[in-house]
Amino acid sequence: MAYKSFEEYNDEVTGDVTNRYKHIIEDLGEDTQREGLLKTPERAAKAMQFLTQGYEQDPVEILKGAMFKESYNEMVIVKDIELYSLCEHHILPFFGKAHIAYIPNGQIVGLSKLPRIVDVFARRLQVQERLTKQILDCINDTLKPQGVAVVIEASHMCMMMRGVQKQNSVTTTSGFRGQFEKNETRNEFLKLIGK
Ligand SMILES: [Zn+2]
Repeated sequence: MAYKSFEEYNDEVTGDVTNRYKHIIEDLGEDTQREGLLKTPERAAKAMQFLTQGYEQDPVEILKGAMFKESYNEMVIVKDIELYSLCEHHILPFFGKAHIAYIPNGQIVGLSKLPRIVDVFARRLQVQERLTKQILDCINDTLKPQGVAVVIEASHMCMMMRGVQKQNSVTTTSGFRGQFEKNETRNEFLKLIGK
């Protein structure tokens, strides 16, 4: 086998969260000794650690690991980046797409790093507004481009499954720095991502 991917979990955290999930599931009226639920607390504990792994990752380091001197100074766009996060108010998923653009200022970044930055910030308890700003600020402060733009479109399970049950509503957030604060540049970007 040439490649093997594996997941690593902190045993102490897994044990602790597993016990708490067991109590939560029982409090909700279920029987944790039922066959289908026997391993659920542990699986849920591992799933939550996976979904919040962003706390232990350094987005600045990821960007800095793939920055290259380059004289290209046109807009670079990565659109339709899949995004999965957890709303910090209900710990329910929100998911959708992120679109990122920047105009280099002597340096470019490996394109695969932009989706990774999205993941690092998305795999935490979030609100969509802050997620947008954190991605924007991280790219702006690290790469120091002439401009950067981030648009996120997401559906929130806490709206779709409970409360107002607006099943088809999509929340859009955006942030712009530098050249993208000019209408002309911003509009070009929005047109290119189909907005
Ligand atoms: Zn929510």
